[in-house]
Amino acid sequence: MRLALFGPPGVGKGTQAKLLVHRLKLKHISTGDLIRSAIKLNTSVGKEARSFVRAGELVPGPIVRKLAEDAMTECGIDYFILDGYPRTIEQADWTTEFLDGHNAPLEAVLSISVSDEVIVSRLSKRRINRETGEIYHLDFNPPPNSVPPDSLVQRKDDRPEAIRQRLQVYRNQTFPVEDYFERQGILHRIDGLGDIEVVYGRLMSVIVSHVKSFGKSRQLQD
Ligand code: ADP
Ligand code: AMP
Repeated sequence: MRLALFGPPGVGKGTQAKLLVHRLKLKHISTGDLIRSAIKLNTSVGKEARSFVRAGELVPGPIVRKLAEDAMTECGIDYFILDGYPRTIEQADWTTEFLDGHNAPLEAVLSISVSDEVIVSRLSKRRINRETGEIYHLDFNPPPNSVPPDSLVQRKDDRPEAIRQRLQVYRNQTFPVEDYFERQGILHRIDGLGDIEVVYGRLMSVIVSHVKSFGKSRQLQD
């Protein structure tokens, strides 16, 4: 099964990807997570990417292309869900070219949307468990008491000025990618408003009815 989650920052892609990955046994390929991990490890990719991420700008395409293609290759170009890639028309072309070259096209692009106000309210109170990578929201999905408060961190790009910039970048460079996949006939729009499990149910019903390989997917969990 080859899926992509699409939508603006803060819409809930990472949250939904973690549920889908666990229950459908897919590999989660988040270019944002891969870049943050490179920054933390201070690799050459991390050094090059750091200032772009902090400013809410896109990291140069060739860097993310390599991260995404290596990750897809690692899982045998199947059973994965892309999260945050592709994010430009150029990246979408690379993705199509790469996957077609392996005779393994994307089966569905699930585009989640909510209003800008909801995005800002979700991002401004997002917290990440630095140990596990678990995503929380101080009001909507609060961390359990077992999570020590000093494990919870706010992403540097979740500051108001970086959030504004990321939304602008999304509108200008990423939103047109929706049309690109619509023309390929694999785009599905999902309302992202509502509880996490409600949104998950919407995603699953699209997967069940439109993704042919679903029936062949590995055993469901939970
Ligand atoms: P993205 O990966 O699209 O940037 P995240 O999955 O990190 O978004 O979610 C952004 C924030 O919104 C997080 O704090 C998360 O806990 C919260 N969130 C995600 N889905 C929902 C939802 N359906 N309702 C309320 N808050 C949500
Ligand atoms: P995310 O975790 O998806 O919100 O991504 C965080 C940041 O990583 C983005 O604001 C960009 O700076 C960078 N990034 C992630 N994915 C990409 C991509 N596909 N292209 C360019 N930059 C990216």
